[in-house]
Amino acid sequence: MTTASYSDQNGVYLMGMSDAQDLRQYIQARFTEGELQYAYELLLKNTQDLAKAEHIPPLQALWKILDAAYQKKMPPMTCHEGCAHCCYTGVMITKMEWDGMINAARHRGMDLQDVIERAEKSIHRVKKALESGIDADKIDWYQMVINQKCPFLDENESCSIHEDRPLDCRTMVAFREVCGSKKLEHAQRGGLIEEAVAPAVIARLQYEATPKLKRRKFDGTAPLRLIQHWLLEWKKKKSTRKKKK
Ligand code: SF4
Repeated sequence: MTTASYSDQNGVYLMGMSDAQDLRQYIQARFTEGELQYAYELLLKNTQDLAKAEHIPPLQALWKILDAAYQKKMPPMTCHEGCAHCCYTGVMITKMEWDGMINAARHRGMDLQDVIERAEKSIHRVKKALESGIDADKIDWYQMVINQKCPFLDENESCSIHEDRPLDCRTMVAFREVCGSKKLEHAQRGGLIEEAVAPAVIARLQYEATPKLKRRKFDGTAPLRLIQHWLLEWKKKKSTRKKKK
């Protein structure tokens, strides 16, 4: 898929479905290595300091800092409650982001079984693909859930986990009234340096949250999985625990 980048008063944005490769090229064209390194170190330090000061998990601290950076540096987004085009496209997240979502869901008394039922069709598709025996790296996961509702999207088209939503959801935003397609034809990235280095900060936080003995095998933020895939794992673990009792 081709991706074009354009420029307007809001800065550079991408038009079209953007994958990791598109994003990498875009970031490299926009920022120097030195700027990225400095921004990474600063964001990591600020995140750790805020987590300590407010006694909150580091990921929550990172979300707070990113929200503040958006508010300070970018024009107001046209995204609003009830507009959920990006939530029909498939979201890939790290283990740390998934754990953050699960903890937040528990904290709010949310029943994850309801969440699963809400997105039964897309969960079923992912399950079938996982059971098919095809090499997981060869599966087009986005295609698998495109036009399918994210399990955390409620009946009012609102995100039920908004404050703890993952990075993918935070960086797909719109600054003008053109976001009208569930196929993400008009999704735009803000291009903030903080969001460019946020995946590296998440990887570092995940590394630090990994027990020391397991760190030798640490593989960045892998595995990156669809929300539906994490939910299936959660369901499987839950039923194994039940059987053991
Ligand atoms: S987690 Fe929330 S914001 Fe992200 S895709 Fe799901 S419903 Fe949308």
